[in-house]
Amino acid sequence: MTGADALGRAFSVPMRTRFRGVEVREGLLVRGPAGWGEFSPFPEYGPQECARWWAACDEAARVGWPEPVRDRVPVNVTVPAVGPEQAARIVAAGGCRTAKVKVAETGQDPAEDIDRVEAVRDAIGPSGRIRVDANGGWDAETAVRMVRELDRFGLEYVEQPCRTLEELGEVRRRTSVPVAADESIRKAADPLRVRAAEAADIVVLKVQPLGGVRPALRVAEACGLPVVVSSAVETSVGLAAGVALAAALPELPYACGLATLQLLERDVADRPLLPEDGYLPVRRPRVDPGRLAEVEADPGPWRSRMAAAREAAAG
Ligand SMILES: [Mg+2]
Repeated sequence: MTGADALGRAFSVPMRTRFRGVEVREGLLVRGPAGWGEFSPFPEYGPQECARWWAACDEAARVGWPEPVRDRVPVNVTVPAVGPEQAARIVAAGGCRTAKVKVAETGQDPAEDIDRVEAVRDAIGPSGRIRVDANGGWDAETAVRMVRELDRFGLEYVEQPCRTLEELGEVRRRTSVPVAADESIRKAADPLRVRAAEAADIVVLKVQPLGGVRPALRVAEACGLPVVVSSAVETSVGLAAGVALAAALPELPYACGLATLQLLERDVADRPLLPEDGYLPVRRPRVDPGRLAEVEADPGPWRSRMAAAREAAAG
């Protein structure tokens, strides 16, 4: 272990498609006695929010993760807001039994969502599972209409159909399709609020925003709703923490949103965490020095950001 590894090595990896308005995914990789950890909060987050992302990295590098109860984790293929032919190709290439289809894209017509979901049903077959993700893009009225319409093709659940808990609750009451909360959950108290508001049937949990695998497990237990583990579009180092959470949950009824490495043009691991037959293996990839060198960036700003996050966590 070198001093630079312990202080953190910065990476900057181009994305294959824009995500959250960003075209590169950046962060710091830190090596500790337990292995590598990833600290990759989004650019707009301040020290207070970054404190939890730091805690997740610290857990990975210094402490390690709880024992897994399974040795592989089912994952979904993600279908962006593309045309039906491309959607079918993505599903066929993904090799997963579950597809998450993006809907409610700004500037698109409802018919485009319907055509896309229909194409995905044809491609994945009658036994495959389909969930749609609106990223909060519908109002309640539109969501109810669209969910009923899209359920012709059989929906496992609808993820964040609307922005507010009140609207999510309304969609949940007025349709028979389960509702999952994603953007409504950014910190530990949120799943409890979701549950108290009877706003969702399922919660989507991510390790970094919740401050680590153990805090996320406690949130899952306290909340009591089924959990879908998702990534924050990390490198294999960060994804491994999501896999560790999914592997340690007592129940895992749904495929996880952890097959996101393909969204990045490069990775830093010796054996990248890519799905095999619809599953991710439960293992910790090692950082490959050559691959890290290809995406390495100036660590100065990231080390300062991490120091501020650590300070916020302590205060
Ligand atoms: Mg989502």
